[in-house]
Amino acid sequence: LRTRLPHVGTTVFTQMSQLAVEHGAVNLGQGFPDFGCDPRLVGLVDEAMRAGHNQYPPMTGVPALREAIAAKIAALYGRRYDAAAEITVTSGASQAIQSAILCSVHPGDEVIVIEPAYDCYLPAIALAGGVPVPVAMHVGERGYSVPWNRVGAAVTPRTRMIIVNSPHNPTGSILRAADLEQLAAIVAGTDILILSDEVYEHMVFDGEQHASVARHPVLAERAFVVSSFGKTYHVTGWKVGYVAAPAAMSVEFRKVHQYNVFTVNTPMQHGIAGYMADPAPYLELPAFYQKKRDLFRAGLAGSRFELLPADGTYFQCVRYSAISDLPEAEFAKWLTREAKVAAIPVSAFYSRPTESGIVRFCFAKKDETLLAALESLQRL
Ligand code: PMP
Ligand code: GLN
Repeated sequence: LRTRLPHVGTTVFTQMSQLAVEHGAVNLGQGFPDFGCDPRLVGLVDEAMRAGHNQYPPMTGVPALREAIAAKIAALYGRRYDAAAEITVTSGASQAIQSAILCSVHPGDEVIVIEPAYDCYLPAIALAGGVPVPVAMHVGERGYSVPWNRVGAAVTPRTRMIIVNSPHNPTGSILRAADLEQLAAIVAGTDILILSDEVYEHMVFDGEQHASVARHPVLAERAFVVSSFGKTYHVTGWKVGYVAAPAAMSVEFRKVHQYNVFTVNTPMQHGIAGYMADPAPYLELPAFYQKKRDLFRAGLAGSRFELLPADGTYFQCVRYSAISDLPEAEFAKWLTREAKVAAIPVSAFYSRPTESGIVRFCFAKKDETLLAALESLQRL
């Protein structure tokens, strides 16, 4: 078969979830909550179905939802996107990311990817015929950071796009205003586009503000800003997200979107639109997850794992060199089998073999789940 992605296997998340089931392990691998969403949100979707919202919605998304998204971005980040021309509802962030890449990357174009990187960027670049240019994050005593000088040095006349992700999966690091200034300086005077994956935008801790690319007047002019309701409302299985982009970019995005999925399921869009009228659920999310982060960190503090900073997302990265010298993928499997706790090896987020002795745990779990995992992790 002359297929397009011969080197791509099953995602590490699926593999580790399967292994967790096989060994009866607590699954802190794949990122998803093990608790339910707000019943009010389910009720709103139920109402939408009963009200007959069950046929195709407009190609770009239900107008009330696009309005609610535009209003939220304006309130939080100060940029007023035109809901009709600049917001498109997508089938999760994954489809937004893939369509943004497919509509803008030509064969041979280079796309700078900061690694470790979430796993859906590289296959999308490959399908577009683009050339990924990986730049490794710096990892030191104080955790992960983006080496902007190396990002700048990676730019060539063929660079078409730079992908950024904050809060960052898997490292839990965040970009701050100063990072965005460095990025702006790198792209100034070029036609490089920005793809900003902000699916964890409402999970930034310790009183810090999410530095959205939408907030940056210069970067926003050339950016696809992507988010996902799966993360924000504890409904990863619903696969509803969106992209905000200047009108000219949205026109091109929608050309791909309309033949990729055409539309996104209607009742969920109505339900989410109604639910967004109250900002409390996303405004309360940082405190909700910070409590879980602190519970998990406090539990690991007395263990032989070494905690890395966790400024955002629902992930905690740890070094395990005091416990084992296995490579990350082997250690994650060993942990699942022997300690009955599943984790994700950070090496899975690199395009080249990279061992840092670090694995990722997801703390989007009931406190009792976290405590059960901790009991076992503390014994190692
Ligand atoms: N980007 C990042 C960084 C993610 O962690 C995820 C979720 N795993 C996605 C994109 C995809 O989001 P969705 O499930 O809404 O497609
Ligand atoms: N984004 C989730 C994670 O990082 C996984 C989503 C998936 O399984 N593809 O764990």
